[in-house]
Amino acid sequence: ATPMSIMVGVGRGAHSGILIRDAQALERMEAIDTLVVDKTGTLTEGKPKVVRIIAAEGVDESDLLRLGAGVEQGSEHPLAQAIIASAKERKLASSAVSNFASPSGKGATGTVEGKQVALGNAMLMGELKVATSALDQAAEAARQDGATAIYVAVDGRTAGVIAIADPVKPSAASALQALRAEGLRVVMLTGDNETTARAVAKTLGIDEVEAGVLPERKSEVVQRLRGEGRTVAMAGDGVNDAPALAAADVGIAMGGGTDVAIESAGITLLTGDLMGLVRARRLSVATMRNIR
Ligand code: ADP
Ligand code: MG
Repeated sequence: ATPMSIMVGVGRGAHSGILIRDAQALERMEAIDTLVVDKTGTLTEGKPKVVRIIAAEGVDESDLLRLGAGVEQGSEHPLAQAIIASAKERKLASSAVSNFASPSGKGATGTVEGKQVALGNAMLMGELKVATSALDQAAEAARQDGATAIYVAVDGRTAGVIAIADPVKPSAASALQALRAEGLRVVMLTGDNETTARAVAKTLGIDEVEAGVLPERKSEVVQRLRGEGRTVAMAGDGVNDAPALAAADVGIAMGGGTDVAIESAGITLLTGDLMGLVRARRLSVATMRNIR
């Protein structure tokens, strides 16, 4: 490789918001045949909003939201921020949380107003032996709409479901279409459940979906795809995406994402605009053409 051409490529990238930390990432980007994309915060805005609250029989909707938001004060997850914002909008003041815990990729638990409160996915409820059957239908309906259904349990009983939706980025559909037109296969990777993930994937024309993937398993998915002979770029934004970014042939961090993600990636797109993926790929193709 001619270092000069690479340096020119790195410079041109910087001008269009593509920060190349590892020059080899620019070289490898040309040979990518698969793009793995994290859903939350990468394909979506990462600014989820509460769209529906379904209280179990005998449970007051305001109590449900207030207790849930109380626990989420301990979490920095975007879903937690959505629940806190929704409680604030309704002027519900939550008490402080104690004994806070956040099983990664599953939810959050803690004590609020002397009650044991847990919020999270079906996996968490299963582990806590909370029977969710009374609300499973409502939860499934929310998922079919592309929302994430968060179960809330109070003192070991299901108290309700909070449905949270995260709009896809305006640039997502056209960027993915351009990448597919250039021969790339696109895989959506998420800790979110299968139904929600498929509903979102469908709106973006993605047919390969890896859902329900625990944070520590994201890198295994990347490794498996590479083991199948694919050359993989992984795009993500979160702390829990960092190992997967490092495991890919090319790791791409989204601007506005966490520092850990940026440090694990060869390329950082300064803005969250997904067209940056298309530009990075074209820059790589042009750079490598110059070298040959
Ligand atoms: P993603 O891979 O889409 O960024 P995560 O791995 O961060 O998602 O989370 C996976 C799932 O775990 C979420 O969809 C949600 O159901 C649950 N979860 C994680 N953190 C929280 C939280 N603080 N409150 C409620 N649910 C949570
Ligand atoms: Mg994410």
